[in-house]
Amino acid sequence: MRLPKFEYRTPQTIAEAVKIMADVGPEGQFVAGGTDLYPNMKRRQQMPKTVISVMRLAELNQITGDGSNGIRIGASVTLTEICENEIIKRDYPVVAYAAHTISTPLLRNMGTIGGNLLLDTRCNYYDQNYEWRKGINFCLKKDGDVCWVAPGSSKCWAVQSSDLVPVMVAIGAKLRFASTLGERVIDAAGLYNDDGIEYLHKRPDELLVSIELPPTNGWRASYQKLRRRGAFDFPVLGVAAYIQSHGGVVSDAKIVLGGIAPSPVEIKEAGTTLIGKPLDSNQIHAAAEAAYIKARPLDNTDFVYQWRKQMARQYTLRALKDIQT
Ligand SMILES: Cc1cc2nc3c(=O)[nH]c(=O)nc-3n(C[C@H](O)[C@H](O)[C@H](O)COP(=O)(O)OP(=O)(O)OC[C@H]3O[C@@H](n4cnc5c(N)ncnc54)[C@H](O)[C@@H]3O)c2cc1C
Ligand code: SF4
Repeated sequence: MRLPKFEYRTPQTIAEAVKIMADVGPEGQFVAGGTDLYPNMKRRQQMPKTVISVMRLAELNQITGDGSNGIRIGASVTLTEICENEIIKRDYPVVAYAAHTISTPLLRNMGTIGGNLLLDTRCNYYDQNYEWRKGINFCLKKDGDVCWVAPGSSKCWAVQSSDLVPVMVAIGAKLRFASTLGERVIDAAGLYNDDGIEYLHKRPDELLVSIELPPTNGWRASYQKLRRRGAFDFPVLGVAAYIQSHGGVVSDAKIVLGGIAPSPVEIKEAGTTLIGKPLDSNQIHAAAEAAYIKARPLDNTDFVYQWRKQMARQYTLRALKDIQT
């Protein structure tokens, strides 16, 4: 598979990058490591005429701060740097761990945290080459007019498949965007939309500048990933659990599932079950049951969806037990 022809731009400043994007309009797209965008272009799923690299923007390559005050991670920091950074490993081990589960060492050397948080949604009928998709007359997400997962549906059900997304939502990360219209900061939870085509509440011209993680004032978190191959594979279920305790009693809790729907799914019932009580075995099992009941994995990725639903219980148990110990 060959890349289509495109113009490649390498701005040196944020102002220059967003200006180029504003000038080229819908024909433009940002690229970081390209480990998602370039395969998509080879499969003719995304066809930007101008590709604007964000790898030379100094501010996007920096990590500043620590767990006491919160940390700011530039969007172009590579996944390998996230895995190896001493402060992230010490103060935000859940982030280093989730990054470590992404793809392979070579891809983590290229792939960035920003690209991971803005990853295209995935589906068995979409992640195929052009000829394969043409053979089924394409689908709603690109070039077609039927969804093969739910033929009566006017919505695309392609699945949010990033490992860091559920973690960022669970721990309350904030994302900073820039465009020629200025800057805005939003909660990670507010970025994702439950639609496989319009999966981000973000304009295409907005550049992700940085990811801001909150201070680690006593909270703990864990990420558990279900995939077929341990060596590398996209998540078909990811469970991120976040717990804040005071005096042995849980004061805040979030269970967020990834890899089962077009956007990450917070299971509010699981969090509510835990709040106001000690994190003991009974509460952990009750929260895992709530995750099982509410999880509705879609049947358009690897593994049988009923089994992935069962695994929502097991992986929530694992995540909460990991926090407990
Ligand atoms: C074989 C293989 C296995 C993989 N396995 C996994 C896995 O297990 N888990 C997982 O989560 N991912 C996986 N991935 C996906 C991908 O490698 C990672 O998600 C990676 O982090 C993407 O980062 P990138 O910098 O390469 O993104 P890019 O491809 O550069 O960009 C991805 C998207 O983000 C946009 N973008 C990038 N940076 C910015 C920015 N600063 N501002 C605005 N828009 C931006 C691009 O326009 C594009 O739409 C895999 C990929 C491959 C090829
Ligand atoms: S969910 Fe439907 S529309 Fe979306 S990518 Fe899959 S088949 Fe296409």
